Amino acid sequence: MATTGGSPDCGDPVDVPDAPGVADVAAHPDVSDHVDGTAPSGASGDTGAPFRSGFVTVIGRPNVGKSTLVNRVVGTKVTITSPRPNTTRRSVRAVLHLPGVQAVFVDTPGLHRPRTALGTRLNEHVAEALGDIDVVVVVLDATAAIGPGDRLVLGRAAAACAPAAGDGAHAVPSALMVAVNKVDRASGAQTMEHLQGAHDVLEEAGARAEFFPVSAATGAGVTALVDTVLARLPEGPPYFPEDMVSDASEAFWVAELVREQLLARVREELPHSIACRVTEWEWPRIRIDIVVERESQKGMVIGKAGELLKAVGTAVRAQLPPGAYVELRVGVDKRWQQRPDAIERLGY
Ligand code: GDP
Ligand code: MG
Repeated sequence: MATTGGSPDCGDPVDVPDAPGVADVAAHPDVSDHVDGTAPSGASGDTGAPFRSGFVTVIGRPNVGKSTLVNRVVGTKVTITSPRPNTTRRSVRAVLHLPGVQAVFVDTPGLHRPRTALGTRLNEHVAEALGDIDVVVVVLDATAAIGPGDRLVLGRAAAACAPAAGDGAHAVPSALMVAVNKVDRASGAQTMEHLQGAHDVLEEAGARAEFFPVSAATGAGVTALVDTVLARLPEGPPYFPEDMVSDASEAFWVAELVREQLLARVREELPHSIACRVTEWEWPRIRIDIVVERESQKGMVIGKAGELLKAVGTAVRAQLPPGAYVELRVGVDKRWQQRPDAIERLGY
């Protein structure tokens, strides 16, 4: 039965116990070794140069590849991705550690015209991530024409990077970079058109920027972008310890992995309605509630004879340390996307 307050009603448990043959891959930085191959920092190296650090906010329309880019930059999966819009529901900080420098990349939800309370909340996350930063990276999709959504994003970025009046803490304006992504799928002409188009929009807004054609999927052009970002960071301390690649909690991360697997499997109408939350963590047993908005959606998530849910559980376990026991339950929280209290409880 549906509930409107308290925790959602989650019945229909489907356990996914230890199964042989499941790959032993620890994906989350907090539960795995340092896997990004970059040297942990902590000292400024041999050069004697002062340590540098800063925050780099990545913004763009939904689905342009922000999360894929952030994962690529830090060299490990710290934020989930999918072909569905609005996959990212919270800002996630991903930390790139290099000798003498630390860059904190902030992956954000896609900026969009909100139709729900959740949509409004997602845009708030973006606005919050644009305060007090050193670099803004605007991501555009080279395979789709620059539209009003992109112009809105470019305008926000220009405003966030404008020099502040007076000589307060923000007297040094943030650097602005534009990454034209998915060039692996675009023609040279399309890519050029985007670089030029973005340049024109920003020029009109009186902003200066640097431009990079990239493919987050293949990694093409990403090094040039990252090198430039790092070069713009000011002197400053390391904000995160060397072994920390993301600020997401393990519980949030596992819930996100479940949602990612669901998004990859469910049909069109459903993705926005799905929320996931860890309700019990007693290692190796993890219980995750999958919340949908209507009774009729439960069956779609569970699948015939629980098959869909089983596949989700197995795929999630494959990304956790060995021995994890994932219990998935499906429940209804009526119209949670429209209810700020529910959105908050779900952690978005
Ligand atoms: P976000 O909403 O901006 O965070 O976008 P995601 O990172 O979730 O990516 C949206 C979709 O675009 C996913 O299906 C990605 O696999 C795909 N994608 C991201 N970057 C690239 C790229 O460089 N090339 C191609 N071909 N696809 C990409
Ligand atoms: Mg995303």
